[in-house]
Amino acid sequence: MALIVQKYGGTSVGNPEKIKAVAERVLGYSRQGHEMVVVLSAMSGETDRLITLANSVQDQPDTREMDVLLSTGEQVTISLFAMAVKTAGYDAISFLGDQIKIRTSSMHTKARIQSVDTDKVKGHLAQGRIVVVAGFQGVDENGDITTLGRGGSDTTAVALAAALKADQCEIFTDVDGVYTTDPNICTSARKIERISYDEMLELASLGAKVLDIRSVGLAKRYKVPLHVRSTFVETEGTWVVEEDKAMESMLVSGVTYNKNEARLTISRVPDKPGIASRIFMPISDAGIVVDMIIQNTRAGDLTDMTFTVPRTDYKKALEILKKVAADIGAEDISCADDIAKVSIVGVGMRNHSGIASTMFHVLANEGINIMMISTSEIKVSCVIEEKYTELAVRALHEAFALDKKDTQ
Ligand code: ADP
Ligand code: ASP
Ligand code: MG
Repeated sequence: MALIVQKYGGTSVGNPEKIKAVAERVLGYSRQGHEMVVVLSAMSGETDRLITLANSVQDQPDTREMDVLLSTGEQVTISLFAMAVKTAGYDAISFLGDQIKIRTSSMHTKARIQSVDTDKVKGHLAQGRIVVVAGFQGVDENGDITTLGRGGSDTTAVALAAALKADQCEIFTDVDGVYTTDPNICTSARKIERISYDEMLELASLGAKVLDIRSVGLAKRYKVPLHVRSTFVETEGTWVVEEDKAMESMLVSGVTYNKNEARLTISRVPDKPGIASRIFMPISDAGIVVDMIIQNTRAGDLTDMTFTVPRTDYKKALEILKKVAADIGAEDISCADDIAKVSIVGVGMRNHSGIASTMFHVLANEGINIMMISTSEIKVSCVIEEKYTELAVRALHEAFALDKKDTQ
């Protein structure tokens, strides 16, 4: 008998029929004697719908109220799921984040989990119930509802698995594992059987939304093996575990894309000490995470600074930047939110030259202009026009022969 935490994403619980099917699948494990904790997302499209509602009422919605609103999506699925289990003649009980004290920071809409109280969950498991928990939400020290950021239900599941010392944490979704790139935009994408936490962290941070990056970070820290698999077929998925020798050692292991960023440029800024700090300090004080930064020099002691921020923080960052520009005497601000970042990732890149130039060559061949570049030991990212994303991903996947194992 094992203690298993399973998380089912939005598509998996997208309507009542699917919720009933998931309940049946979970009951299969219960009947084998396993203790089951089930974390659910909102029905697919629901969180987007709620965000649109908020935007139609307030231009930049108040983040505390946004969390009160967004947390309702998961409330619907967990209660329906518990009803489905009861209909099948078994017992289940659903909980919102604050009911089982998933304590988080107070940074509304992107809160971080600080602690989880497992007493209540364990008590109900001991009484033979399936415990159903709302993903993506928690409560801060003031008793206010918080949410964890998009895709945050994965993180709820891993945090619960770590706190409960579960034997297994499984992430059920609409694809049957982690692929070399998004299988929904590249038909030759190949499923990876085992991947290390570090490589998965890199893929997730660069846009592979199949796992929320914070869930991978937590899994690594607490050594929780993750199994990413399909809700709709029984096949084995992908294991995210500590690095071992049996893993694939590809030069490039994946291609990712991220359409959730926006670009801001502040031009003709006086080029003197302290300028970068005056630009980025107020932005970080507002809780906005800056991703790529490029500075270039102009004649006459002037410089330009271009950077990217999450698209959700774009308007807020722009307002801050306008204020800063007036203070420091910058002459111009430009911005765009129709950009995308495509990246190639692979730990094997560490000891090889020429990978970045191959990437630039592939994009050039497709007539795609590169606006920004950033590299690290194990990744190369390029910012391009959003409309070329799919083309770029497919061309890179093919150029690095990712559809075939062990060919690089
Ligand atoms: P859920 O609602 O179950 O959490 P998500 O939509 O968050 O599901 O994540 C699953 C999606 O992630 C897939 O449908 C796929 O389009 C996308 N995806 C992006 N990159 C990858 C990848 N490398 N491997 C698998 N899926 C990926
Ligand atoms: N419902 C939330 C979202 O759509 C959380 C999740 O699905 O993980 O982002
Ligand atoms: Mg997700």
